[in-house]
Amino acid sequence: MAVFNQVEFDNHEQVVFCADEASGLKAIIAVHSTKLGPAVGGCRLWHYAKDEDAVYDVLRLSKGMTYKNAVARLPFGGGKSVIIGDAKEIKSEALFRAFGKHLERLGGSYYSAEDVNITTGDVMMMHKETNYVLGLEGKSGNPSPFTALGTFLGIKAAYQHKHGHQDLAGVKVAVQGLGAVAYGLCKYLHEVGAELFVTDINQASIDRVVNDFGATAVGIDEIYDLDVDVYAPCALGATVNDNTIPRIKANIIAGCANNQLAESRHGEILREKGVLYAPDYVINAGGIINVYYETKPDGYNEVDATKHVEGIYDTLTEIFARSESEQKSTHIIADELAQEIIEQGL
Ligand code: NAD
Repeated sequence: MAVFNQVEFDNHEQVVFCADEASGLKAIIAVHSTKLGPAVGGCRLWHYAKDEDAVYDVLRLSKGMTYKNAVARLPFGGGKSVIIGDAKEIKSEALFRAFGKHLERLGGSYYSAEDVNITTGDVMMMHKETNYVLGLEGKSGNPSPFTALGTFLGIKAAYQHKHGHQDLAGVKVAVQGLGAVAYGLCKYLHEVGAELFVTDINQASIDRVVNDFGATAVGIDEIYDLDVDVYAPCALGATVNDNTIPRIKANIIAGCANNQLAESRHGEILREKGVLYAPDYVINAGGIINVYYETKPDGYNEVDATKHVEGIYDTLTEIFARSESEQKSTHIIADELAQEIIEQGL
């Protein structure tokens, strides 16, 4: 299996293959960079069809965390881990403790946390063997409200850039997915008088937002065709693609979902169409910023965490301005900003 020749390999500092026969653990930990601090990024449990797919994912995601943490101006490097298996079958305390022992062996060069198919309860089991985990219950708490705040401020920054003011009263926003983050986002938007058009695969989540914030429910696929000002993807990745771009009428795309662009070229297509895209890993960094504050020697402080999250507005404002002056798409500018911060330090 190719590792060093993988297209996703980006001089990752360390890639560790871990196993434990008794519990059936098979995992890969990738430390992409520790230049700004210990590598931090969640652990994903996934039923990869082949080991190569797991390597590809962990290399790609760990590099993504380096960039995300840098642009959020956190003293964290980037890393990620994947456990290979079916979440319905392999989860056990023994498995997570075995994984925790592998984290311990890395001696703090990588801190893990929850991600797809991994709960804070699973992380608590890892924690029985190691302190190199973050986002535990009873510390910085639920990250979603902070991600919601950052996303709301990101929409405001985008609106300010496009229209020269940030009064969102009467502004039409299409919110796709109404989960933990989007509910908080809808609340902020409703409070400033925005008009909400919403969809979800879960009827109860729709009803809640319709009842609480007077939102208009629309069909799952209809969300792309609405005559709105802002499209906020808050569910799945890759919703900005060849099929949806011609349909999206909003001139701002700003939401909390990860990996919104199906491919990098779609960011450039948006720029050419005059659609302002708030790069996903910049606008949705509120959660990881909040988690950082649990590492403070004096303990977690919500006021400081909130202030830091508010900085997402300024970071996006800078990215939008540079995108315009350099005639490059916003997601490319975000990557360049990350590389500069990594090079120069925080
Ligand atoms: P969540 O699971 O609470 O919410 C996701 C919602 O999307 C659910 O209500 C689900 O029913 C809905 N959904 C799924 N498929 C859909 C579809 N095809 N159309 C419409 N709705 C659909 O998750 P969350 O924590 O709110 O996170 C939302 C997104 O933001 C995810 O992409 C996540 O990776 C990203 N994100 C979350 C955080 C955080 O702090 N929670 C931080 C960074 C990024």
